[in-house]
Amino acid sequence: MRFHVLTLFPSMFDSPFAESIIARARKEGLIDIEVHDIREHADGPHRSVDDYAFGGGPGMVMKPEPIFKAAEAVRSLSNFAEDSPVVLLSPKGRRLTQRVAEELSEHEELMLICGRYEGVDERVRQHLATDEISIGDFVLSGGELAAMVVIDSVSRLVPGVVGSMESTQDDSFTTGLLQFPQYTRPAEFRGWRVPDILLSGNHAEIARWRREESLRTTFLGRPELLESADLSAADRAFLEELRRP
Ligand code: SAH
Repeated sequence: MRFHVLTLFPSMFDSPFAESIIARARKEGLIDIEVHDIREHADGPHRSVDDYAFGGGPGMVMKPEPIFKAAEAVRSLSNFAEDSPVVLLSPKGRRLTQRVAEELSEHEELMLICGRYEGVDERVRQHLATDEISIGDFVLSGGELAAMVVIDSVSRLVPGVVGSMESTQDDSFTTGLLQFPQYTRPAEFRGWRVPDILLSGNHAEIARWRREESLRTTFLGRPELLESADLSAADRAFLEELRRP
C-alpha cells in the first residue's frame, strides 16, 4: 500500500515512520510513504502558499493552486489512479474509527492532504478531495499529525505489517469491544499479583476470563460500544450480572 502525503512540513514525517512496525513494513516493501512538499509547487519569487481570507478576519488560508499542482504531479509522476481516495485532513471531516481505517486499508494507495494555518481553500475540499477525515473533536495546528495517525492505523491492517507476535485480532474496536487487561512477568510485582487464572494453563478458562474482562472494561468505559457489538447469549448474561446493583 502506498501513501502520498502533501504537506508544507515534509521533515515532520521522518522520525515517526523510522521506528518499529512501520519502519519494518517500509523496509519489507509492504507499505510505501512518499512525502511531497506543497511549496515546491508554488510560483513566484517567494513561493507563497497562503494568503489572507476573503471577507477578512485573522489568519491565513492555504491557496488552492499549489495543492492542486502537487496532487496533479502525484497523479502524473506516480501514476496515482483516478479513483483512489484523496483525503483531506480536517476537523470538519468524518471521524476516524477502526471501521474507517479498515475501509481505507482496502485501497492500494491514498493521498493525504495536510492543512495548516486557518485551513485550506474550500475549493480543495470541493473539487480535489474525495474524502475528509478528522481524528477527533479538537483542533490541531496542522494536518500532519492527523495524517500520521491515519497512516499508522491503516498500515497496521495491511496484511503482514503486524506480525503474529503483535496480532491485531484481539485489538480494541476490532472485536467491537475494548481489549481485556494484559499482564507480563513477573507474576507478582510490588505485592500486586497477576490474576491466578492467567497462570493456570487452562486455555478455555483463560479465554472465558478474557472475554468477560473485555465486556467489563467496555461496560465501564465505553458502554455505547456494546450496542453494536456482536454478543453471544453468554456475553449478554454476563452483562446482566454487571448491571445488577
Ligand atoms: N480553522 C479550522 C481549523 C484549522 S487547523 C477550523 O476551525 O475548522 C489547521 C489544519 O490542521 C487543518 O486544515 C487540518 O488539516 C488540520 N487539523 C486540525 N484539527 C484536525 C483534526 N481534528 N483532524 C484532522 N485534521 C485536523
